[in-house]
Amino acid sequence: MPLRILNLISGFLLFATTHLFAQSTNNNTTTNNHLVHSHPGDLPILITAPHGGTNVLKDVLTRTNGTLLRDDGTYELALLVSEELTKLTKGKQPYLVAAQFHRKYLDVNRPATNAFESPGAKSYYDTYHNQTSNYVAEIRQRFGGEGLMIDLHGQARDAASIFRGTGNGVTVLRLIQKQGEAAFTGTNSLLGQLATKGYNIIPNNTPPGKPPEDRSYNGGFTVRTYGSHKDDGIDAIQLELGSQLRRADRKKFATDLAQAIFTFQEKYLKPTESIPKSKTD
Ligand SMILES: [Zn+2]
Repeated sequence: MPLRILNLISGFLLFATTHLFAQSTNNNTTTNNHLVHSHPGDLPILITAPHGGTNVLKDVLTRTNGTLLRDDGTYELALLVSEELTKLTKGKQPYLVAAQFHRKYLDVNRPATNAFESPGAKSYYDTYHNQTSNYVAEIRQRFGGEGLMIDLHGQARDAASIFRGTGNGVTVLRLIQKQGEAAFTGTNSLLGQLATKGYNIIPNNTPPGKPPEDRSYNGGFTVRTYGSHKDDGIDAIQLELGSQLRRADRKKFATDLAQAIFTFQEKYLKPTESIPKSKTD
């Protein structure tokens, strides 16, 4: 082979290697694997949305048990909150995991044993939870063991309200123990700020258990799996949002939620990043 062609080939290989390496360390790399939209972040914040997907899974049968309805608008909302938060922080984005498959095929907010009926759904389930648990571990490693997960859902009972789901404070146990109850229910807490902006929070930022959170919306599998009552968890809050906040007012609510997250993390999660992010996307 003539030397000139060899040079061309080695030049191309060098370019390809450098380019691929550059991509793998790019903060904004978004992965869409098994219909799970995810990206790593630069903040100790993880936004999750398990029920907002619309995609058909051809080889998976529709479930015959449990809730089949999707949480309309929560997928789009999760992406919008991520975008708004990135604007507020001038380029730092939260971690994100959002399901794109329809809930009727698998419900990733359940233990694997009753999340799906078709064996073909298992790889989608595993992708969603492997990504979530990798991000929780990465946040803990990078930000001094602390972080906040916000799990976005939809409820049909009250179009303008937000039901809080934390197992009555259980999934934010470390936040309360380390920073006091005000970090959970005070004016600078996440939900305290949303209340100040005029949103109706149920329960209305009263102390955990007084009164108890609504039994239908008091925190599902996700926040109970990754919450800070677990040694390897982070503080986790489930938000059950009325349809108005997910549809007509989605953009405004995304902006307000992002602002509340930003202020919360400035006050209670001051980043002490020391280790660069890994490539768990
Ligand atoms: Zn839901």
